[in-house]
Amino acid sequence: MKKVVNSDSRSKVVTTSCYYDCGGRCLLKVYVDEGKITRIGTAEGPLPGLKACPRGLAQKEVVYAEDRIRQPLKRVGQRGSGKFEPTSWEEALDTVARELQRAKDQYGATSIFLMDYSGSRSPLHGFLKAGRRFFALFGGCTTWCGLVSDEAAHFSSLATFGTVFTGNTADNFLHSKLIIMWGWNPVATRFGSDTLYHLAKAKKAGVRIICVDPRYSISAKALAEQWIPLKSGTDAALLIAMAYVIIDENLYERRFIENYTVGFKKFRDYVVGEEDGIPKTPEWADDITGVPAETIKQLARDYASLKPAALYASWAPGRTAFGEQYHRAASALAAMTGNIGITGGNAAGGTGHIPLGNLGGTLPVPESPNPVVHITNIYDAVLKGKSGGYPTDIKLLYIVGCNMLNQFLNTNKGVAALQVPEFIIVHELFLTPTARFADIILPVTTTLERIDIGQPWGGGPYFIHMDRAIEPLPQAKSDLAIFTELASRIGIPGYNDKSDEAWLKEFAAATPDLLEYEVFKLKGVHRIPLDQPWVAFREQIEDPAHHPFPTPSGKIEIYSQKIADMQNHMIPPIPKYIEAWEGPGDPLLDKYPIQLISPHPRARVHSQWHKILRLEKLADDAVWLNPGDAHPRGIANGDKVKIYNARGQLITTARVTEHILLLRL
Ligand code: SF4
Repeated sequence: MKKVVNSDSRSKVVTTSCYYDCGGRCLLKVYVDEGKITRIGTAEGPLPGLKACPRGLAQKEVVYAEDRIRQPLKRVGQRGSGKFEPTSWEEALDTVARELQRAKDQYGATSIFLMDYSGSRSPLHGFLKAGRRFFALFGGCTTWCGLVSDEAAHFSSLATFGTVFTGNTADNFLHSKLIIMWGWNPVATRFGSDTLYHLAKAKKAGVRIICVDPRYSISAKALAEQWIPLKSGTDAALLIAMAYVIIDENLYERRFIENYTVGFKKFRDYVVGEEDGIPKTPEWADDITGVPAETIKQLARDYASLKPAALYASWAPGRTAFGEQYHRAASALAAMTGNIGITGGNAAGGTGHIPLGNLGGTLPVPESPNPVVHITNIYDAVLKGKSGGYPTDIKLLYIVGCNMLNQFLNTNKGVAALQVPEFIIVHELFLTPTARFADIILPVTTTLERIDIGQPWGGGPYFIHMDRAIEPLPQAKSDLAIFTELASRIGIPGYNDKSDEAWLKEFAAATPDLLEYEVFKLKGVHRIPLDQPWVAFREQIEDPAHHPFPTPSGKIEIYSQKIADMQNHMIPPIPKYIEAWEGPGDPLLDKYPIQLISPHPRARVHSQWHKILRLEKLADDAVWLNPGDAHPRGIANGDKVKIYNARGQLITTARVTEHILLLRL
């Protein structure tokens, strides 16, 4: 594909990539006239399915949003009041440099907590790059570890397969006889820009698609011929009961189990009840999950007999207590049915990354032995510091690309925590709930105002060159530019001694799958040629003698000795169903009988672009309630309702619909 550049130098069409934590990495064509974006279009690109979604097409409105922060701001009211006044870049950067130095001198560099996150992505300008490099050269800081997103999936992938690269290219779906979308809503979350395209094509070709989800999601509606609702947090029980049926009816692939796995016997003993006296029958799971036993049996038979079958076990069900059991159970089932490493199958393997479309180089971050706090404990660490057993007392909070109050657990605790640090700096586009707690806000650029390279989210067979569509808005700077100026003020040599383009050339040169940079830039999009769908573990299955799995045993670990060695009773070495606290079986249900799940929105990426009018019209912020749950409470469609528990409350609108599981009367 050639880049389109109009011969009239005042107007041009720029090829770039939409770059958010949305599950996609789509192709944008930005129409620019006299330095202003006039509209945003999209295209298929060299492989089909790279067309942008409404969020990507709304990026002009994001760039020129009236409430975009247009100059540095300093706090004038109470912290959190949202009262700021404009200040100059000169004064803002001087203040930030002074505060950084003060915190370091007074308390040590680890008193500074860097909270950089996925609101700002990309290999040169995105998170884990500019800020990390700065603080590594500054003398360190404290930062975060873990994930709020796919930690259970990640753990499961590593324990079961020894790698996070457990995914396939989306064209693989065209070869499946059955696709089970488990807790997966790709219309909203994409999981690869071309995934929907291939799922739709598979459906058209007659591939059976089943959706397992408490909600009849927009994806279930568009793609699935069967919807199986289950109680949230009980997914592992459903999968284990399917394993029971497959064992009981002798439908599993013995040869695959013997050749490629370890620990099946221990899993079998648990499933059939030899370990604990409880056979994990469909009737056992019916009680727990709310899915009728007959439905479970049929689902198990379908999965075991329609081969190849792709069980796509997505991340949402793993975001519960004991979520890794769900992921490990799904992979065990994929192994039992021999659906791993074959075209049309799927490892059901947690993370699902693909080792394609990843640059060989990104902005280098020197080794820095920073103390870390798990991402779910950040508020606690800020509130308690060393007295709570954390590595440091946090005195300065530096936030880049992160609306943590909105994204992380327990907002009320977060509000209390954000009162604690002596100083808070935020890089932002908008005055988010988190930015309201800043002492200084530094306005940043959007991806359309800078150059970079688009790498597919989670991996995929292409790269997109991201041309700068327009110059940065007058007072906006990229995260990298901000840290470059701070480095020069503080006296950190060598932080950024290259132009943005020189960095990109280095990244391209370090990437065997990519063209020479100038050719790539001219082409705009580079497709990595593949002669068949990329399928994780094809080599391990086809040639096990030369390609062991990267696990300690060299096989798929249904039983993990590594987990056993952890001696943590909450993480058994074989996948098991363990009832989640505050789950559908918790006695707390007498007090709080309705369970809440919070699906990803279709009109936003997490909380980004909440106020973009064009997207607001597509947003569905109502709380869905089954009529059987709503009517006994006197709740009608459109009523304002209060959702609350011991941790907080919110008011929203009720949508009374059969498209959500009936929970409890
Ligand atoms: S799916 Fe993501 S990358 Fe693609 S256009 Fe939408 S927001 Fe942008």
